[in-house]
Amino acid sequence: MAVGVDLGGTQLRVAVLRGATLLSRVGLLTGEDATPERLIPRICDAIRQALAEARVELGQVAGIGLGAPGPLNSQSGIIYSPPNLPGWENVPIRDILQKEFPVPIYIENDAHCAALGEYMFGAGRGSEDMVYMTVSTGIGGGIICKGRLLEGAGGTAGELGHMTIDLHGPRCNCGNIGCLEAIASGTAIARRANEAIAAGQGAELLAFARSLDEQTARQLHLPAGTEKESIERVNARTVGEAARAGIALARQILGEAARGLGVGLVNVIHIFNPRKIILGGGVMQLGDLILGPALDIVEQRAMKAPRSIVSIELAQLGPNVGLIGAGTLIYYHG
Ligand SMILES: [Zn+2]
Repeated sequence: MAVGVDLGGTQLRVAVLRGATLLSRVGLLTGEDATPERLIPRICDAIRQALAEARVELGQVAGIGLGAPGPLNSQSGIIYSPPNLPGWENVPIRDILQKEFPVPIYIENDAHCAALGEYMFGAGRGSEDMVYMTVSTGIGGGIICKGRLLEGAGGTAGELGHMTIDLHGPRCNCGNIGCLEAIASGTAIARRANEAIAAGQGAELLAFARSLDEQTARQLHLPAGTEKESIERVNARTVGEAARAGIALARQILGEAARGLGVGLVNVIHIFNPRKIILGGGVMQLGDLILGPALDIVEQRAMKAPRSIVSIELAQLGPNVGLIGAGTLIYYHG
């Protein structure tokens, strides 16, 4: 058994796992005040609670695996200064947890954890050369090469979201220009939709978003009129629903994101020659709206030899991938 800790920007989840099976699960919101001083004691409490709920003693688990937003150093166990965890600056999280829990503890960036999880328990089983990519609010990745996670010299290998797709593209959160994340992430899809609306091209999309919001408001029994104010910004999910309903602007926006993703996949195929590429994250739930045009680009642009070997598949571990991936660190290192 292992303990998995999935530390995110808004949520903290802890589970006791046997392989990919959750024996208990504790979840809490990190809240406004997620400084290390406040949050680390809550992480410790959540670990104790998860053990208690699974009726497992600390001595019965092989270790604790923690997945956290990067950048971090898995060798030294230090979390540097992730944009998603304000106030965290060079926190030696492993050493701190080690004082409370005398078992092996490993930390790794969350996308690397997810890659290991999919490799050992999900869509990547049996593929020793595989690349995992998560397309969500941001885009992250993990590369498995001959059954080992590719860490790179400083532990940051696999930042697939920050490969440049368009030399003159939009500005990315990382400060660079035209990154995959700035073109194909959920944030990028939403940004494009809102830019189109602001430019006066999105009347149909906005009307659709408002009708969706009115439905939501009715379901939630909100007073009439509330929905009008709440719908200031359209999100990626709304763009997806609008595309499914046949709204041209939404289809065009998703198509652009998907083609950017396709170019990213071509790069991955050329650089790593993987047996599998596994795609996870919320944006991939849009299914063929995203995957279809992306695979068309792969078909058109990837070299034939590596293209004929690679299988591009959706991730299998679902919403618990972060927890399962964190627990997988123990099986991987053990
Ligand atoms: Zn970037």
